Amino acid sequence: MRYWLSAASSPLLAWVAGSVLITALLPGCGGRSLELEARWRPLLEVKEAPFAPEGGAVTIGRTVYVQDLDELKAKEPVRFDALMLHEQYHARSQKRVGLLKYSALYGTSAEFMAEEELPAWALQLEHLRGHGQAVDVLSVARSLSGYKTVIGNHRMISLGDAERFVRDVLSGRWGNQ
Ligand SMILES: [Zn+2]
Repeated sequence: MRYWLSAASSPLLAWVAGSVLITALLPGCGGRSLELEARWRPLLEVKEAPFAPEGGAVTIGRTVYVQDLDELKAKEPVRFDALMLHEQYHARSQKRVGLLKYSALYGTSAEFMAEEELPAWALQLEHLRGHGQAVDVLSVARSLSGYKTVIGNHRMISLGDAERFVRDVLSGRWGNQ
C-alpha cells in the first residue's frame, strides 16, 4: 500500500510501474490470440485485451493487443498488413530502446511519440496507397492530432500539421525532403 501511495505521487513512476505490471500480468490474461507469420518478427501474436483502443491496436513487446480479434481477422489483407507494418515498427523500437525506457519516453514526451508514430503511420499509409486503397486524409489527421502523452497530456501534432503529414506521405514527399 505504501509502495502504491509513493508510486502514485510520481506520475512518471506510476506510469512505468503500470507498464511493467501490465506486461507481467497480460500473458496470463487468457484472451483469444492469433499467431503471426514469421515475416512480422519481432512480433509473435495478436491478443484480445479490453484496454486496447477501439478499432485500433497497441503493441507491448512482441504482442499486439486489439479489442476484437474477429474485427481484425475480417480486415482485407492489405489493411491487415498495413496495420502490422505499423505495429512491427513499434516492436522493433521497443526491442532496440528497451521496453521500460520506451514506455517512459512514450508516456511523457510528445517528441518521442512523434518520432515513433509518424514513421509507423507513414509505413501504414504508404502500404495502403501502394495497393490502391483509399485513405481518408482528414480522418487519419484527426486520429493523429488526438494522440497525447499519458503524463502531461502533451499533444503529439496539431491537426494542420497532421493533415500536411498525411498528404506528404500519400504524395511520396514525406521523408524525401
Ligand atoms: Zn502507433
